[in-house]
Amino acid sequence: MSLRKSASTMKKNRPVVCVFCGSSHGAKPQYAAAARALGRLIAERGFSLLFGGGGLGLMGETARAVRDGGAPVTGIMPQFLRRIEQPPEWEKELVVTPDLQLRKTRMLELSDAFVVLPGGAGTMDEFFEVVTSASLGVLPKPIVAVDTDGYFAPLDKLMKHIVAEGFARPEIFSFYKLVETPEAAMDAIAEQLGLLARD
Ligand code: AMP
Repeated sequence: MSLRKSASTMKKNRPVVCVFCGSSHGAKPQYAAAARALGRLIAERGFSLLFGGGGLGLMGETARAVRDGGAPVTGIMPQFLRRIEQPPEWEKELVVTPDLQLRKTRMLELSDAFVVLPGGAGTMDEFFEVVTSASLGVLPKPIVAVDTDGYFAPLDKLMKHIVAEGFARPEIFSFYKLVETPEAAMDAIAEQLGLLARD
């Protein structure tokens, strides 16, 4: 599917939430439960989902919950990952990019807001990509990380260490929020986008 067609299909008056999360399930069932809860809320509150396109792990959990809630789901994936991350067979909208870098660029362009769930090195790469882009003034969009079961406590500690040691200004904390639940994430996004939360 072409990028332009996909973007117009996604929009349909729905803000686009990009979810970055693990292509694995992680060690605790709470991670998948939070991914499903987030997916349900994205659909219930009238948003659409843009995600990495894979059917595996928390990515698949989130996408299925959005689809089951009746909202549009668009995946975006480099060609070489199609065999590895296995787009679900029901996924009608899959944007294919030549490489990982272009995938991230397109995700940043097409999304109105970003939610980060627990994940591995790929998710951390995506978290730092959006936070650094926002802090450099080229991504004026809400970014929220959901701290399921304290998963992001070490990241929070690292960010505070970076600031304490003088490698970033405290303003970096104004470019993302760390919240405890998917509900709080969607509330924060709705508030920052100037939308009324839709129950
Ligand atoms: P992970 O959190 O490691 O399970 O990865 C989550 C997603 O990030 C997967 O779709 C990966 O393909 C993707 N990913 C992994 N490494 C990178 C990278 N260096 N740049 C962009 N995306 C990546």
